[in-house]
Amino acid sequence: MQTFEQHPQDKHKAVALDRWAIVLSGICLLHCLALPFAVLLGPVLGQWLLDTETNVHWLLLALALPISFWALRRGYKSHRSLVTLTSGSIGLLLMFLGVSHLAGELLEVPFTVVGVVAVMFAHIRNTIATLKHH
Ligand SMILES: [Zn+2]
Repeated sequence: MQTFEQHPQDKHKAVALDRWAIVLSGICLLHCLALPFAVLLGPVLGQWLLDTETNVHWLLLALALPISFWALRRGYKSHRSLVTLTSGSIGLLLMFLGVSHLAGELLEVPFTVVGVVAVMFAHIRNTIATLKHH
């Protein structure tokens, strides 16, 4: 098994990936939380936000999946934290359930918000574990 001591640059790479995943999740969270206020942005911008909602979520999920998969897999290999792995997996699953409308279109935003928070939580834990790793 590779360790960070042998590959110090990998530690930076791992933290950078986690940071990207957190930033992506943050964008999605802001985006979802802005939706209820979409009407306040005016008819054109508000409608645009509503119309692009699902597409934005597909895009964010498509970007988050490979990043999270890689970062959490690597994190699990070195820190063996089931909590991190589980919350990340559940989060991605919820994001997928939300955006796919499998549970209905109305649940898209609630599922996405909860999923994104779980994914963020997993990557924050992953970052802390990586930084503590010695
Ligand atoms: Zn959103």
